[in-house]
Amino acid sequence: MHISKTDYLEYTYCRKNLWLKKHKSELFDGVELSEFEKKIIEEGNAADADARNLFPGGTLVDIVGTNAVLVTSRMLATRIKTLFQGAFLFDGFFVQADILHWNEELLGWELYEVKATNDVSRTIPHHHVNDLAFQKTVLEGDGMRIVKTGVIHLNGEYRKLGEINYRELFIVEDLSDEVTDAQEAVEAQMVDMQSYLEAPEEKGCECLYRGRSNQCTTFAYSNPDVPEYSVHDMNRIGASKKRLEDWIDRRIYKIDEIDHPESLEGAKLAQYNAYTLGRPLVDNVAIKEELDKLVFPLQFFDYEGYSSAIPKFDGFGAYEQVPFQYSLHIMQEDGSIEHREFLITEPVGDLTRPLVDRMKLDLDPAGTVIVWFKGYESQRNMKLAELHPEHAAFLEQINENMFDLMTIFSRNFYVDAKFKGSASIKKVLPVIVPELSYKKLNVQKGDQAIERWEKLINVETPQKEKDQIAKDLLEYCKMDTFAMVEIYRFLKKLV
Ligand code: SF4
Repeated sequence: MHISKTDYLEYTYCRKNLWLKKHKSELFDGVELSEFEKKIIEEGNAADADARNLFPGGTLVDIVGTNAVLVTSRMLATRIKTLFQGAFLFDGFFVQADILHWNEELLGWELYEVKATNDVSRTIPHHHVNDLAFQKTVLEGDGMRIVKTGVIHLNGEYRKLGEINYRELFIVEDLSDEVTDAQEAVEAQMVDMQSYLEAPEEKGCECLYRGRSNQCTTFAYSNPDVPEYSVHDMNRIGASKKRLEDWIDRRIYKIDEIDHPESLEGAKLAQYNAYTLGRPLVDNVAIKEELDKLVFPLQFFDYEGYSSAIPKFDGFGAYEQVPFQYSLHIMQEDGSIEHREFLITEPVGDLTRPLVDRMKLDLDPAGTVIVWFKGYESQRNMKLAELHPEHAAFLEQINENMFDLMTIFSRNFYVDAKFKGSASIKKVLPVIVPELSYKKLNVQKGDQAIERWEKLINVETPQKEKDQIAKDLLEYCKMDTFAMVEIYRFLKKLV
């Protein structure tokens, strides 16, 4: 069994998960990567490929896996100056290094790891220094002389304007000293990892002491005594480590087993009360106060945004969100509803100008603009204002008149235990308006919408497919704003 760099990084985050992947891979059958996870991998590959432009004339080992080791040694024998994806094996550990560059002065190799991030990370599981220390150990073990180590990451300040300038897009950070300092500890971890993977399975797993959002799909397998709805589902319980530890150590798993509930507060107490009472907690006065602030026409508004590690559109930088679509449901005081929408289908010229121009026609800045999670929409407006200063006053006014419908739930004015401590629309909607479902739509999630839009604007996509994608994206975004309309109507009936 070979241990790759990815295995090592996974081990530092969760050794049990790695053990299960190596010995009980059937547990992961049917577990597919989400569109979001696939995109992260694609972004990493794209950054890796583009960073090669910093080393013109380099040679690529075009094979993945241990078969690349022989090819690598043959290439190195030809005294090449730069090698991309060179593969090395040492003592059961396997590495494919992003960039190796010969340093004539120091008579050794510079080892670079390309990261599709805006900075060097020094936290687990994406600890770039330890990542390089692992690679350096394997390469040196395999006889390579490494004289310099560094990370090549994206420059968060860079904004695309015409052709990409790779020297400006990437930042090369020399981490040689840090990597050398980290090497001894990383080598010890590598030894431990080998023993751990050869040992029998350890019982349970550490996520017993972590909130639900940290757990992977094997949690129930490792912790069969924990019910499906447990104390791990309490609102932000992962941040209350001591409290969770105390419950778990005393085998308090169910919410209604919690002793001393009077010590709970805020959202946790509200969730506990809703759970034990078996009905939602509703603060009618607070909800009425909030809804009374809204000014007609009510404009339920939602953007879909696209981002990529390597910026694709002028004016945008790495991972900057590009609003490519919006949906708008307009409700008048008499309850009548009208729908408007816009989708960029051809990424030509000044990309977002037609979108803002249409917003000016569709939105009435005097009425309240209702969104879910204000931070996202308001930041997109600020970016559009920066790109289109002539519309800045209009966009700023929209932000001033913006109301975040999520606050009704995040401020615990309406709490249903079935939300499991969350105020996300994906948790709230199925409980409040169960008949409204994304399940019948071809696009059901934001990360899917990103992938679909990428396909829509690809010149190679056949027109018939483009038409279908456009229809699916419009349906999806329309559902987002209609969901808010229905949640508003539901709340209005309560007060
Ligand atoms: S549930 Fe958590 S601790 Fe358990 S295997 Fe998964 S990630 Fe690791």
